[in-house]
Amino acid sequence: MLGVMPVLFVGHGNPMNAITDNEFSRGWEEAAKTIPTPTAILCISAHWEAKGTFVTAMEKPRTIHDFGGFPDELYEVEYPAPGSPALASEVQEGVRLTHVEPDQAWGLDHGTWSVARRFYPEANVPIVQMSLDYTKPPRWHYDLARELAPLRSKGVLILGSGNIVHNLRLVDWHATEGLAWAQEANEKMKRLASTGDDQALINYHSLGKEVQLAVPTPEHYLPLLYALALREKGDNTSFFNEKPDLGSIFMTSVRIGRS
Ligand code: ZN
Repeated sequence: MLGVMPVLFVGHGNPMNAITDNEFSRGWEEAAKTIPTPTAILCISAHWEAKGTFVTAMEKPRTIHDFGGFPDELYEVEYPAPGSPALASEVQEGVRLTHVEPDQAWGLDHGTWSVARRFYPEANVPIVQMSLDYTKPPRWHYDLARELAPLRSKGVLILGSGNIVHNLRLVDWHATEGLAWAQEANEKMKRLASTGDDQALINYHSLGKEVQLAVPTPEHYLPLLYALALREKGDNTSFFNEKPDLGSIFMTSVRIGRS
């Protein structure tokens, strides 16, 4: 019996974390050890935006190398986790808010596989990705996520993959700590997440200029709302990898679960 599965939001950051042994990738490995092996993963990644909502429905999702300018060894990584057409159908049937369409073209983007290969190096847990509808407001994403709640009792690990502070334009390659605004935004969002103020996080546009700098575009932030929306009474909320990278990115990750 798996009980009710925890839910995770993971800051994925630099794609090199997929193949680098560092504090972030080790943090991912540690987080995976606290979770019973899921029957499947449903991942909402920052890197799959679409008009409409899709779920990958193929048996064998391809590994997508959706980045540029990295070493060959990163492009050579394949993560051959199976898909789960059964889970894709379950999501299609369970969601009422919108029509979820099966997809045969996408696969696993680096928001998913960079983290998953650290979680489950043997690639033995089936993975389905669900796209982010870029035409919808934050509240809609939160409401959609609520409809995924029954999957937690079926052994499915719901994983949001993004970054709560993510401003690539302001990256400082030499920064050894988070830039002041980034630190402030990270602290503010963590505080709201730990106190359960989901409303404030949904209305993140009103959280001040630090948060506006932290979230210049919504795609890396919205996966956090999916995780928070799935929090139920009795769940504890904890953080890991709460550290900056390159000044303007925070790797802050959230674990929601009964224990
Ligand atoms: Zn990313």
